[in-house]
Amino acid sequence: MRKHRWLIGFVGALFLLILGSVVRTQLQNRMKKQFQKNYDVVESFTAPNDMVAREMKYFKTPEGRQWRIPIIMYHYVEPQKNDGDTIRRSLTIPPELFEKQLQTLSENNIPTYFVRDIPAILSGDEEYATPSVVLTFDDGYQDFYTVVFPLLKKYHVKATVYIINRFLGWKDFLTTKQLRELGESSLVEIGAHTLNHAYLKGLDTKTAAYQIMQSKRELEELLGKPVETFAYPYGEFDPETMRIVKEASYSAAVSVVPGMEQSIANQYYLYRIRAGNLSSGDAMLHVLGVAQMGNN
Ligand SMILES: [Zn+2]
Repeated sequence: MRKHRWLIGFVGALFLLILGSVVRTQLQNRMKKQFQKNYDVVESFTAPNDMVAREMKYFKTPEGRQWRIPIIMYHYVEPQKNDGDTIRRSLTIPPELFEKQLQTLSENNIPTYFVRDIPAILSGDEEYATPSVVLTFDDGYQDFYTVVFPLLKKYHVKATVYIINRFLGWKDFLTTKQLRELGESSLVEIGAHTLNHAYLKGLDTKTAAYQIMQSKRELEELLGKPVETFAYPYGEFDPETMRIVKEASYSAAVSVVPGMEQSIANQYYLYRIRAGNLSSGDAMLHVLGVAQMGNN
């Protein structure tokens, strides 16, 4: 009898363990699918232009001095795969091209800044050399550690990476250990991108505030240093989202609204340029206004 009880207990525990792991995998897959599904909405710029136009109209308050600060938005830096994942392909630039871009920056002595440096530039408190550039990487993919980071070190280039807390350790994403190491580097700024890539626009205030504040808090705890800037998942935000981001004491936030002329008016939705638009080192110089295409 006693032996039976043990057996029943054992089988029961095993069953619960398996059930737990199945539910967890399902949940992860669902989150991943949701993440991918919404992905092409804005971050990859496949959104209809009127969506961007609408945002612009919403926040059109061009006051104060404008600064030409090109902020480039990267996602994956990896060899192109032909696996039918067109969204991922559209967000990918090959490592050789990325290296070429860094080489171009280095050869032309073009300085790089972090996103967290921008508020002081906009208010005129920090000297700003033109041309210069800000490199940003959304989502915290594994290749930021394996491909991007070694190249940043090789060319002494800075970059800001936006982390999704709950995706740390998932396949293709950075691990906590890697993130800690990145956090120690003077070439990397770590920013927040919500707990699980939340679609913030229209989200109720309480949930949005939790996503925006808790992601900062957890990253700061993990890294032991302040996390100062934020990136809107899918590039989506509304006035309420922006208010919360300010209230959470972020100093700036990046959007996916295309552009380069930044000012205090858009400090909480800084414009960015898609990395895929820069097909060569020359193209990068062209965007920075250093040289005409093909002249180099
Ligand atoms: Zn993202």
